[in-house]
Amino acid sequence: MALKTLNTDRALIDGALVAPADGQTRTLVNPATGGAGATVPECGVEDINRAVAAARRAFDDGRWTGLGPGGRAAALFKLADLLEQRLDELASLESRNVGKPIKLAHDSDLPFAIDCLRFFAGAGRVLAGQASHEYLPGMTSILRREPIGVCGQLAPWNYPLMMALWKIGPALASGNTVVLKPAPETPLTALALGELALEAGLPAGVLNIVTGGDEVGAALVAHPDVQLISLTGATETGKIIMQAAARTLKRVHMELGGKAPFIVFDDADIEAAAQGAVVGGFVNTGQDCTAATRMYVQQSVYEKFLDRFGALVREIRVGDPAADKTDMGPLVSQAQLGRVEELVGKARGAGTFVTGGARATVAGMEQGFFFQPTIITDVANDSPVVMDEIFGPAVVVLPFSDEADALTRANAVRYGLAGSVWTRDVQRAMRMAQALEFGTVWVNDHLPITAEMPHGGFKQSGFGKDMSPYALEDYTQVKHIMLDNTGEARKGWHYTIFGDAE
Ligand code: NAD
Repeated sequence: MALKTLNTDRALIDGALVAPADGQTRTLVNPATGGAGATVPECGVEDINRAVAAARRAFDDGRWTGLGPGGRAAALFKLADLLEQRLDELASLESRNVGKPIKLAHDSDLPFAIDCLRFFAGAGRVLAGQASHEYLPGMTSILRREPIGVCGQLAPWNYPLMMALWKIGPALASGNTVVLKPAPETPLTALALGELALEAGLPAGVLNIVTGGDEVGAALVAHPDVQLISLTGATETGKIIMQAAARTLKRVHMELGGKAPFIVFDDADIEAAAQGAVVGGFVNTGQDCTAATRMYVQQSVYEKFLDRFGALVREIRVGDPAADKTDMGPLVSQAQLGRVEELVGKARGAGTFVTGGARATVAGMEQGFFFQPTIITDVANDSPVVMDEIFGPAVVVLPFSDEADALTRANAVRYGLAGSVWTRDVQRAMRMAQALEFGTVWVNDHLPITAEMPHGGFKQSGFGKDMSPYALEDYTQVKHIMLDNTGEARKGWHYTIFGDAE
């Protein structure tokens, strides 16, 4: 029997799929064609208020915490199973909405995201405070790790369902309730997630999914009943949100921009480095916060690397995201295409274009937001294409002289999310891995991440970790309980405040 198409036209508020209070909708743009896409609900401040109130009730009356870690895990595992059963449809929604190649959505992003949800469901059961002890005579100390309350979560458009699950996974597994707002451009899989959350039996109000633009996000950040805001988005957005969150002293969890270095030493396997650079640089049309955007290559192997890398990049198949053989789809939006054109344009005249540098044309999709895979060389290390996040299919390749030079160039950005080192020298690999100011450093690879290990930035790439037990810690707070176990009315130390020593 064919399944009914998943919900993409109603928000999830207080355990029901609902239209926005004021009935507004938004027509999405299909990035591959530039034409109209699906129509989705466009929620407003009133919907945020209803969602936060529902999340608050669900937290306060214990309907979620009361299930215990095992009960919560069962619901989240069920949700993961339902997501897996609808993988084909979800991957197709994600591919269409983002312009992401179907093979990336279906075989990589979504299975990995579902695995992350399962990780959190299980890991929430082993969250524990430290063992109790008598640190003061006659007093027993106990630590509890408790949920924080209502979490407001703001997701970006580049990996919509993966980011949604990275956020709700640790928050829900540790007993919080959630209001999630997907990016305005890419809400389709988050809306579908809302329907599956109901089917999985998540109690009303535990997870709310509210669509809308930045101003709807701002209402969530300002709401006094929200205790934590987590953002995955641009560094500039992070700064605005931290300031706004300060008014109600909310906790903030920030996964922001990146500008990853990719450092190739002369003893590296150049074929492996060139292959790694193609996938690292052009994954998801370069719209990836860990994308390898700055290739630094030791002078003696610079030409050899560039020749091979350039040859591979020319083979990238740009095309219809729905086609099985497409390697690279369009950028997500006209705005993102404009941003890429502007930043790449700044290198024109200043640098050399090994390949690309302009919009790409795909037959039958002439109005799509396609851009050619682009390699730029011969620019100064402090130029905008090297320092600023392009978030598109354009990378820079520059030579370096020695280890110290590579390190200085690599660390010279305001970002600190991820980077990689390519060498066969173990000592050098360790020296570099230690000295690079990035939250993840790969050696002889670039991109792999796993649910068990943390992902998160240094410097202006933010703070707080996604995935791993560290994410669960970020969504919990520690309580110290101190218990008198003597039963004495008057303690030995009371005289220091009242009366005399006995
Ligand atoms: P964005 O910052 O424009 O938006 C992210 C989310 O925040 C959206 O839901 C948006 O509506 C909301 N938002 C924007 N302004 C807001 C405000 N003033 N108040 C409240 N909410 C607001 O980011 P984007 O363009 O959707 O995504 C691209 C960015 O995300 C890139 O910079 C990329 O590096 C970053 N990113 C980082 C990671 C990571 O793990 N560090 C992962 C993916 C993407």
